[in-house]
Amino acid sequence: MQTVHDVPALRAAIRGWHAQGQTVGLVPTMGNLHAGHFSLIKLARTRADRVVASVFVNPTQFGPSEDFERYPRTLGQDQAGLAEQGCDLLFAPEVATMYPYGAQHSVSLHVPQITDTLEGAHRPGHFDGVATVVCKLFNLVQPDLAVFGQKDFQQLKVIERMVRDLSLPVKVMAAPTQRAEDGLALSSRNQYLSDEERALAPQIHAVLAQMRELIGKGHAWRVVEQAALSKLERAGFEPDYAAIRRAADLSEPAEGERDGLVGLIAARLGKTRLIDNLLFD
Ligand code: AMP
Repeated sequence: MQTVHDVPALRAAIRGWHAQGQTVGLVPTMGNLHAGHFSLIKLARTRADRVVASVFVNPTQFGPSEDFERYPRTLGQDQAGLAEQGCDLLFAPEVATMYPYGAQHSVSLHVPQITDTLEGAHRPGHFDGVATVVCKLFNLVQPDLAVFGQKDFQQLKVIERMVRDLSLPVKVMAAPTQRAEDGLALSSRNQYLSDEERALAPQIHAVLAQMRELIGKGHAWRVVEQAALSKLERAGFEPDYAAIRRAADLSEPAEGERDGLVGLIAARLGKTRLIDNLLFD
């Protein structure tokens, strides 16, 4: 596997593949890779001739009080893991390469409506940063397809909407959430958890499963949301939301609407903010 840090080297590699008629799949990440990320690489490998992974801790998607500085950076380890997974190329740019005018002065993309709620409401500007960096990565790599995890469900929907609205020639693919045996969704942020917090963390998935069960039994979604919030608080979390939405566009369901719903939770455990979701179908 080749690792490149700058744009000319990246473009040269991609040009060679495209000239041979090979398709390219992209897996954008912030590094500190785990089995969740590797499942995206595996999916990309089954759908494209060549797989490019990017590792870039993107400053524009972090709020001022968030963990940009302390976000785990483990490039050597990531390189070894990606090579083992059969990734063809790793693109690991510096901030100045991605933002030639500086991250503060970058062109910024705003995907309206779907970003007003949930993560968008609790992390102002987050999805502008995500949309901007993903659009830039698409322009740099020119992939035929790109794989995103359902773990970040709203992010996946934001990217789908951006691609459709900007007519970007990229097929967006979703990969299922990889979990630890106790149900906790794998995440680079899990390593911030103390032993005690790690033992509590699977409650998020357990509460999502209970939400799904209650909706299945015909309970009203607003009541189920309230019950989930109380359960999380009683267990020691500080929840930002426990929401039930339409999976298609994250809008609020009508009363009695049962099909195509998703449950989403964001909750803080000590200093760590965890998110997870579950499709109710
Ligand atoms: P990140 O490095 O956190 O930006 O994540 C990069 C990609 O990996 C995103 O598309 C995430 O949704 C995906 N991802 C992160 N954790 C998981 C997981 N546990 N299962 C599946 N995909 C994941």
